[in-house]
Amino acid sequence: MSTSITRENFDQWMLPVYAPAPFIPVRGEGSRLWDQQGNEYIDFAGGIAVNALGHAHPALCKALSEQAARFWHTGNGYTNEPVLKLAKQLLDATFADRAFFCNSGAEANEAALKLARKYAHDTFGPQKSGIVAFKNAFHGRTLFTVSAGGQPAYSQDFAPLPPQIQHAIYNDLASASVLINDDTCAVIVEPMQGEGGVVPANQAFLQGLRELCTRHNAVLIFDEVQTGVGRTGELYAYMHYGVTPDVLTTAKALGGGFPIGAMLTTETFGKVMNVGTHGTTYGGNPLAGAVAGAVLDIVNTPETLDGVKQRHQWFVEQLMAFNDRHPLFSDIRGLGLLIGCQLVTEHAGKAKQISQLAAAEGVMVLIAGGNVVRFAPALNISEEEVRTGLTRFTRACEKFLAENIS
Ligand SMILES: *Cc1c(COP(=O)(O)O)cnc(C)c1O
Repeated sequence: MSTSITRENFDQWMLPVYAPAPFIPVRGEGSRLWDQQGNEYIDFAGGIAVNALGHAHPALCKALSEQAARFWHTGNGYTNEPVLKLAKQLLDATFADRAFFCNSGAEANEAALKLARKYAHDTFGPQKSGIVAFKNAFHGRTLFTVSAGGQPAYSQDFAPLPPQIQHAIYNDLASASVLINDDTCAVIVEPMQGEGGVVPANQAFLQGLRELCTRHNAVLIFDEVQTGVGRTGELYAYMHYGVTPDVLTTAKALGGGFPIGAMLTTETFGKVMNVGTHGTTYGGNPLAGAVAGAVLDIVNTPETLDGVKQRHQWFVEQLMAFNDRHPLFSDIRGLGLLIGCQLVTEHAGKAKQISQLAAAEGVMVLIAGGNVVRFAPALNISEEEVRTGLTRFTRACEKFLAENIS
């Protein structure tokens, strides 16, 4: 038992880049977690859209422990069966012909942006280096990806930033078309902004970006790190929209909690990379490959994907019913099991307070900026867990309203 470890140790020992909850979870099962004191929580945070199948899923435990007993790692001088099987699963299920594996969403986007630059430089020349991204976007925390991200708070302290990156307004095709031209090598976009407030793209916006990229020979990158692996009720959100990117990045739920990321692309773009142009020590590690393969076996089935759409209804109906009685949210939106509740202007900026009250009631929720409470639970969360969690959540909202009487 780790009883001598306390939450205070975090403040003493850790680089203070996070502000974790006041309790420490020690055990999970399905969509329930328990902390050091034995308090129970329903998990609507899903490890930030990562724990696709909840905690301690038997099939994932089995895949991990079986591979753990065989071998863990060889490095990229050798390939391995789990990662090749995983690659085939992803290619069979998507538009892609080639996969590159890494360890996180940021690394997948880093690979995608590098691929786009190399493709453009090799094919058209070095002047074709412009990257168009979007305000409020989130693409990770490496220098290149915070620069592509559209939240200056995450990048400005680390200047000088990589040049040739411009930001258009999300869901505003006109603002993007002003920036996209023959010197653009890539457009990177989330089909639904996650960190930026749970904002689904408009159909016409994604379609328009597709047409602009085709016209100007720019690589269209869909960052599906948060929307991928069943989150929206389709395996990838591009399938929901019927708009196919040239490069897709995926991570978070792909490993169900085991770190793995991937970049998927077509033969046309993939062939500009060759031996030595990019790489990572752990990418495509057999442990990660085995677990992600087991995740996909379960997620990429009609039962799971239809179940996500069903669960969306459970959430939205109960949230709307609460909101009719106590108008706290001006919008309840999202796709599948990525749901955002936008606070009414009167309570703007208080999402964090609500998430803290929710934890005290025994339910873990996320925020997406100061004005949006976000839910990204496991795709297999049970109806009972949804109802119990939402009962606790609405109790927290009532407390919030009682404390914040205008
Ligand atoms: C979380 C996220 C990332 C970054 O993923 P990491 O694994 O934290 O590097 C990138 N893009 C999107 C859309 C994300 O939600």
